[in-house]
Amino acid sequence: MSTPVKLSLSGVRKEFRVRGERESFTALEDVTVDVRDGEFLVLVGPSGSGKSTLLDLLGGLERPSGGQLLLDGAPITGPGLDRGIVFQQYALLPWRTARGNIEFGLEAKGVKRRERRRLADDYLDLVGLGGFGDRYPHELSGGMKQRVAIARSLAFDPEVLLMDEPFAALDAQTRESLQDELLRIWEATRKTILFITHGIDEAVYLGQRVAVLTSRPGRVKAVVDIDLDRHTAADIRSSEPFRELRHHIWSLLHDEVERAQTLEQAALAATDRRSSHG
Ligand code: ADP
Ligand code: MG
Repeated sequence: MSTPVKLSLSGVRKEFRVRGERESFTALEDVTVDVRDGEFLVLVGPSGSGKSTLLDLLGGLERPSGGQLLLDGAPITGPGLDRGIVFQQYALLPWRTARGNIEFGLEAKGVKRRERRRLADDYLDLVGLGGFGDRYPHELSGGMKQRVAIARSLAFDPEVLLMDEPFAALDAQTRESLQDELLRIWEATRKTILFITHGIDEAVYLGQRVAVLTSRPGRVKAVVDIDLDRHTAADIRSSEPFRELRHHIWSLLHDEVERAQTLEQAALAATDRRSSHG
């Protein structure tokens, strides 16, 4: 029996109207990919390829210009507590403690005070922040803030976790330890995770499958299966299978980055011509 599909994207297109321009700007052209129930899927793409745009569509913060986004077979029409979102920048409320930030989502859900506190403390423990509940965001490091953001997303028990480059602003060591934490949490909770990154190592390390986006306008260029046994290898990042997968994805992305640069240069040249004529 095959695993049910949790999130289904088909032919997803997003155009933006640009002020003063006649033609609209196509950020996503035709994104088609499924995320299975309980899967950890990573979407990797160059900067500007529409990754955050796609996340906004999945979060229901924006509407697609075409195509379909389904969650459990039903169209996504707006934001909902069935999807937890973790952004690159720690979107914590500065006037609330770590615990208060986690309780915030639970208040919206109508969870009673004592239960909120118990859940918040459980999730602080889960992300390795037991004992830090009373600290305010400015008293926490970047990595700790991002742990709070993850705990907050998990606490209201969403079906799906959507993560937009959540570790990009962190130093390499903190990033690697949070990657391990996230894998541990995923194994413990079996949430469906769609994780977005521009980092190839991060994609190979985390994903069961890695979907590679083209440069703008974004399409899914390839979906690569990551068959790595994370439990046996001591230092998986330097193993041969890891290196091969990294190289494979690097080649897929490299072509895209070159294509994007060519397009950018052509656009700049056109602007130059226009300004020198005008
Ligand atoms: P990524 O997250 O992959 O770096 P984004 O999704 O942020 O890419 O952006 C993709 C493209 O869409 C970029 O060129 C960006 O400038 C453009 N874009 C994003 N949001 C808007 C918007 N609201 N209006 C116009 N253009 C936008
Ligand atoms: Mg982005």
